[in-house]
Amino acid sequence: MNAADLAAWIRHSAELVSADAERLTRLDAAIGDGDHGHNLDRGFRAAAGALPEDAPPGKVLIAAGRAIVSKTGGASGPLYGTALRRAGKALGDAGDVDAAALGAALRAALDGVRDLGKAAEGDKTMVDALAPAVAAYEAALADGADLAGCVRAAAGAAARGAEDTVPMQARKGRASYLGPRSVGHMDPGASSTALLLRGLADVTGEG
Ligand code: ADP
Ligand code: MG
Repeated sequence: MNAADLAAWIRHSAELVSADAERLTRLDAAIGDGDHGHNLDRGFRAAAGALPEDAPPGKVLIAAGRAIVSKTGGASGPLYGTALRRAGKALGDAGDVDAAALGAALRAALDGVRDLGKAAEGDKTMVDALAPAVAAYEAALADGADLAGCVRAAAGAAARGAEDTVPMQARKGRASYLGPRSVGHMDPGASSTALLLRGLADVTGEG
């Protein structure tokens, strides 16, 4: 992957989020305040408009993360912004991103979300999609899969992880205020994480 591929992912993510904003907002209306889709739509539009020309892949993600932090409301803005910035920092100044480097970037993104949000797996947050995605990516990498194969494995695990949040009771974020009434609904942030990783699989699978 190069900088253009990562920029294509951010632009594709903006399209996917925009197309799915109503559904994400409905999920958030059930257990939160009904703004998640619109928050992310605003953030990813800003990110797509803030992508640098002629910059290395890491700088593309850092710029996207910065735009998301400044334009996305709610808890998810700082969390996704931090994830992208940490991923970008992990890529450093390299001009090309191989499967191992992308795995390290995804791991750094997860660490960033955990450091900021303090959520563990099972707390019914985006961590429940991102953590299994990173684990599946690393397992595929260890099995010798190429970058597209690793991303496909991550996207599949994220989708299953989002489904697995349905029976969970939220222990972090706004949904935790509902206590047991948060059970029976998919976590909006876990669902958007699965969407973003599906977008990455779309972009890497084309090559
Ligand atoms: P807000 O909850 O402030 O309205 P959003 O609706 O945009 O923000 O995002 C809600 C999502 O943010 C949740 O579905 C959850 O996945 C994620 N989230 C909230 N708090 C945390 C946290 N502490 N750690 C990880 N993710 C969190
Ligand atoms: Mg919300």
